[in-house]
Amino acid sequence: MEYQKNDLVTVTIEDMGNEGEGIGKVNGFTLFVKDAVLGDTVEARIVKNKKNYAYARLEKVVTPSPFRVTPACAYHRQCGGCQLQALSYQKQLEFKQKKIRDNLIRIGGFSPEYIDAKMEPVIGMEEPFHYRNKAQYPVGTDREGNVITGFYAGRTHSIIANTDCCLGASKNKDILEIILDYMRTCHVSAYNEITGEGLIRHILIRTGFTSKEIMVCLVINRNRTGSPKGNKNREYLPRQNELIQRLAEIENMTSVSVSINTERNNVIMGKEIHTLWGSPVISDTIHVRDMQKEGYPFTGKELTFHISPLSFYQVNPVQTEKLYSLALEYAGLTGRETVWDLYCGIGTISLFLASNAKKVYGVEVVLQAVEDARENAKRNGICNAQFFLGKAEEVLPEFYEKAGKDFDSAADMLHPDVIVVDPPRKGCDEACLQTMLQMQPERIVYVSCDCATLARDLKVLCDGGYELKKVRGVDQFGMTVHVETVCLLSKLGVK
Ligand code: SAH
Repeated sequence: MEYQKNDLVTVTIEDMGNEGEGIGKVNGFTLFVKDAVLGDTVEARIVKNKKNYAYARLEKVVTPSPFRVTPACAYHRQCGGCQLQALSYQKQLEFKQKKIRDNLIRIGGFSPEYIDAKMEPVIGMEEPFHYRNKAQYPVGTDREGNVITGFYAGRTHSIIANTDCCLGASKNKDILEIILDYMRTCHVSAYNEITGEGLIRHILIRTGFTSKEIMVCLVINRNRTGSPKGNKNREYLPRQNELIQRLAEIENMTSVSVSINTERNNVIMGKEIHTLWGSPVISDTIHVRDMQKEGYPFTGKELTFHISPLSFYQVNPVQTEKLYSLALEYAGLTGRETVWDLYCGIGTISLFLASNAKKVYGVEVVLQAVEDARENAKRNGICNAQFFLGKAEEVLPEFYEKAGKDFDSAADMLHPDVIVVDPPRKGCDEACLQTMLQMQPERIVYVSCDCATLARDLKVLCDGGYELKKVRGVDQFGMTVHVETVCLLSKLGVK
C-alpha cells in the first residue's frame, strides 16, 4: 500500500534503529518513527516518503510500551543531546548490547554464535543522570532579542533555552544564570552565527568529579577590548570584574578563562586561552577498579590528571574508571611488557598501563594533549612512558620503516607485547592497522566510541591474523544512543 506525505498511520514499534528511532511495519511497509519506543503502539504522521519505507513523526502514543518511562527533561524530543530518555534504562542497556552485537555481525562479518560466545554484558551506570563532567552551551538570542543559552535542537543550530540539563552537573544552572544575568545587566551581546557579530559564543563548564573543582571558559568573538594600548587593565569582557566576582563566589570555582575564537566556523573552542581568575587547569583523580569483583571496588591505585580547557578528557568519570580498568585487565600486563597506546590524549590510559608495564609509548595528534600527557606522567611519578606527537597512521609506519632498518635496539618497540588503540569515531586509518599487523603484538586492546567503525577495523585485524577474544560495552552516555566498547584480540596461535 502506498502512503502519502502527511498521512496518519497507526503502527506498533517492533525494533529500534541505531539512532534510537522506533521501527515498525504496516502492510509490509517500514516506518521509522523518532521518539517512539520499542513496544509502543503509536499514531505517526508521514513526513518523508520513499519507495519501501518512510519517516514519520510521533503524534500520539496510543498504547505505551511497558518499557516507556516519563522523561526527566521537558525538551527531550527537540534537543539533539538525548535520544532514549523515554526508554527505561535497563532497556537502553539492552539496546546498546544489541547495537554492538549487530554491528559486529553485519559490518565485522562475525557469526552470531561467535559473537555471543565472546561478548560480555554491557556495564551500565548506577546513576544515569548528572553524569557528565563537561558541557558546552551555545549562547544566542530568542525571537524577542533576549540572551539565552541551552542546547542545539537535533540537526540544527537553533538554541533551545535550557540551563538545567539533566545529564550535566547540577551547579551548571547557577553558573549559567550568573553569566546570563551579567550579559543582561552589562549589555554584553551574544554571538550571531549568521552575521558573525556579537561577543559571547559558547560557555564551557567542566567539573572534576573527585576534586569538585569547577572550570568556566567563555568562548568569545574578539580579542582584548576597551582601553587603549599599553593599559594593563585592558579587558576581554566588558566590566569583566563584576562577572569574575560573582563566579568566584560559587563554591569550588577554580578556573575562569576566555577562549578567543573569531573564526566563522562550527568549531567551538578557539586555540588561544587566557586565564582571567584562578588556575589555568582543574584536576581530577581516576581510581583503578577490580573488574572481576561485584560492584567493581577500587584497588587502591589512582592517578591524578590536570585538565586544561582544550584537552580531551572522558566526559563520564565514573564509567571511565570502569572503561580504563577493563582495558587494563584485557591488556594482561605483568610489568615486563612493552606497550604502544595509540590516540592517547592526555595520557590517561598510557599512565594506567605504565604502572604495570616495562615501557609505554603514546601517540597523539594534539600538541597540548601531548604536553599534558608528559606533565601528567611527571605529576604521578611515572618515568616509563614516552609520548610522540603526530598522527598514529604516520608516526607508527614511519617509525616502523626507519627503526626497522636502523636500530636493533628498537626491537621491543618494533614488536611490542600489547598495542592499545582508542581512536575518535572515525576509527583507525588503514595505514595504522597495517603497521599494527606488521608489529605483531601478542595482544591488541581496542577501545572504541563507535561500534560501526570498530567492526570495520576488527575485520581487517582478524583477516590479518588476529582472533577476537572478548568484547564488552561500557555505557558512558546514558539517555543517548552512544556506547563505548572494549575488545581484546590476540595473535592467532597465542593463548
Ligand atoms: N585515550 C584517550 C583519548 C581518546 S579520544 C582518553 O581516554 O582520554 C581520541 C584521541 O585521539 C584524542 O585525544 C584526539 O586528539 C586523538 N586523535 C585524533 N586523531 C588522531 C590521529 N590520527 N592520530 C593520533 N591521535 C589522534
